[in-house]
Amino acid sequence: MLPTVPLADKHVDEYVVPAGEEAVERLRKAAKPFAGATMLHLNSTAYGGGVAELLQSQLPLLNDLGIQATWALLEGSDEYYAVTKTVHNALQGAEVPWTEEMRGAYWDRIRANAAELTEGYDYVFVHDPQPAALLNVLEEEGRRTGQWIWRCHIDLSTPFRPVWEFFEPIVNRYDAAIFTMENFAQPGVTDPTLAFIPPSIDPCSSKNLEIADATIADVLQTYGIDPDRPIVVQVSRFDPWKDPLGVIDAFRLARKEFPGIQLILAGSMAHDDPEGMRFLDLTEEHRAGDPDIHLLTNVHNVGNLEINAFQRASSVVIQKSIREGFGLVVAEGMWKDKPVIGGNVGGIRLQIIDGQTGFLVDSVEGCAERIVQLLQDPELGRTIGQAAREFVRDRFLTLRELEDYLGLMTSLR
Ligand code: UDP
Repeated sequence: MLPTVPLADKHVDEYVVPAGEEAVERLRKAAKPFAGATMLHLNSTAYGGGVAELLQSQLPLLNDLGIQATWALLEGSDEYYAVTKTVHNALQGAEVPWTEEMRGAYWDRIRANAAELTEGYDYVFVHDPQPAALLNVLEEEGRRTGQWIWRCHIDLSTPFRPVWEFFEPIVNRYDAAIFTMENFAQPGVTDPTLAFIPPSIDPCSSKNLEIADATIADVLQTYGIDPDRPIVVQVSRFDPWKDPLGVIDAFRLARKEFPGIQLILAGSMAHDDPEGMRFLDLTEEHRAGDPDIHLLTNVHNVGNLEINAFQRASSVVIQKSIREGFGLVVAEGMWKDKPVIGGNVGGIRLQIIDGQTGFLVDSVEGCAERIVQLLQDPELGRTIGQAAREFVRDRFLTLRELEDYLGLMTSLR
């Protein structure tokens, strides 16, 4: 058996307050026909990054709804993670080397993991490209059972063709493929049923629950951040697509107009992301010892509560991505009534209606201008923040995503 991740105890009833009774009832109704069904979710990390975040919340709720949901992890190796990170970058558009040796390393780990996947499930959700080819191996060995659903979390709109051509036939074996938005789907994905389902955030997680002002003050004090000067934050893995260097540049430009501001760049190191350390070093170099730029990682014990506090303490939340599948951190900021400045890319565009639920920006200068505008006009920030929260309540909370998954499963029956 592949290693499984222990699931928390969560109850759908707890979502009545944040999401509304109607949303809870709709979800219960959608889940009813699947009571007793078995469901496996497979991905490559239990910690760090958006997919782990989603599964932590969603699987316990599926269990509460009577579905027997299991979360299993693909077992990688340094070489395999180096290959899958390259694949991730390539599928988001980067030109990369794509050698026979890399493909061999990918297949080796996939075969080893397939050998561990000995149980059958009614529904198998495979997240992202890392584990995608498991289905091929099971089919070759005549061991395929149940419905297989590929859940793609990345922006696949302009992939580097040689790498996508490797994955296309792999994806075409699935019964269904889920993309965050329509323009992420590649025209060559013709065989699976297609569904377009944006991700969601969990309003009841320790990252998103309301917390006391005193707790926020404690967290700021712990990290030496001045509560009396404005704070801007970006929470992200250290990854070139998240553009932390551009955030620092925008912060420095904004500081010329608005001296005294502070920047928090918080990012955990996902264990399937070997580039993270190197990019953290680059970011640290770019920070150049600036005492008002706080570069924090999970090495500094930055967990969910701290992220929650940083987001709540900020006047402005930034997510200046250059490519972004969705950007859970955008919805997290919006849910906390914050004006979010997001890169005008991918799934961020689903969340931010420019000027209404946040601001979309295309450059360092544009980002700096919006930071200054929001700091100079706190009333604007409040108005946008309120609209942002309502937008997230309507569209981007966990129950809606689960209901969409169940809707897709119903259509596959
Ligand atoms: N996150 C975190 N700590 C960090 C950095 C990120 O808890 O130091 C969380 C963040 O709050 C969000 C998720 O990891 O819930 C990142 O998801 P997103 O979709 O924004 O980006 P991804 O990493 O999946 O590209």
